[in-house]
Amino acid sequence: MACKGNWVCFDCRVSTRRHTWKGITYYCPDTIGMEGDVKCQHCGSVMKFIGPTIRVPAKRKIKEWQQLREEILAFRQDYFRERRALMVEAVHEAKKNIEKLKRRPFNKEREKLIREYERNLAKYT
Ligand SMILES: [Zn+2]
Repeated sequence: MACKGNWVCFDCRVSTRRHTWKGITYYCPDTIGMEGDVKCQHCGSVMKFIGPTIRVPAKRKIKEWQQLREEILAFRQDYFRERRALMVEAVHEAKKNIEKLKRRPFNKEREKLIREYERNLAKYT
């Protein structure tokens, strides 16, 4: 199935299309606004991916371009802030659970669980 995604240059208000896959921005929201190896034909700067579904404004609609740029920036900030917050929460939860488990009498399965928690923690911290 052919699916094209838009890459945009906000400064020049131009876009270009490249192959992508349907649902990319649904399954990987962090791709919205990401940079890749697509360069703007006008200014040569790196273009930003906005996916297959976000509508590209007409070139003369300066306000819409400005709005889109701000929306995408805000989206990325929110998205990564949320992800960081979730990670911090997960680390906190894991540490709490390790403490809880360690306070209980020795048990092989529990030791295994603690090791698993600690392995996960090592990934985050
Ligand atoms: Zn450009």
